[in-house]
Amino acid sequence: MSEQVHRLVYFSRNAMPGTSDEIVEGVHQILKSSRRNNARAGVTGALLFNSGCFAQVLEGPSSAVSETFERIQWDERHSEVLVLDYAPVDGRVFPDWSMSFVGASQSGQHLFGDVSAASGFNPIHLKAAQVLTTLHRLVMDEEKQTA
Ligand code: FAD
Repeated sequence: MSEQVHRLVYFSRNAMPGTSDEIVEGVHQILKSSRRNNARAGVTGALLFNSGCFAQVLEGPSSAVSETFERIQWDERHSEVLVLDYAPVDGRVFPDWSMSFVGASQSGQHLFGDVSAASGFNPIHLKAAQVLTTLHRLVMDEEKQTA
């Protein structure tokens, strides 16, 4: 029997110094490693980078998600890593993406702004369900634009 899918949602702040071009290059490196490692581990998900913050959803077998997150949480390229949710789920919301990415698009800024504003800009009040819904909507929007 296959291992039950678990979903982890977290928020963190960018700790990469440099110009915006250097930070974009840093995020690009993160995505490259993520896609390679996640495809191998059976982890899927989405990463949002906006306003100097990351929000990420990781989905997969519990052992794969926790091993991946163990590496992520010690990564010095971000800080104040705050887990919003980690739980078994019925299925994946991002089954087709080893790591989908939503950057600083207009709509992304608008939608993520809503999440941040609703939390009073304090990530501790961010709701995992809201981050998940926002990310899913943004990924779908980007898919439509590139289709
Ligand atoms: P490599 O892919 O070989 O490393 C690639 C490059 O990144 C190298 O040039 C290396 O110098 C540089 N690098 C690696 N680690 C660090 C570091 N800690 N600080 C500075 N530079 C570094 N990894 C995943 O596997 N899946 C994910 O979904 C994922 N999401 C992430 C989300 C965020 C917001 C961040 C900050 C990191 C994420 N990572 C993810 C990266 C993770 O933290 C590890 O760096 C990565 O998994 C290491 O993979 P690797 O051993 O294959 O390194």
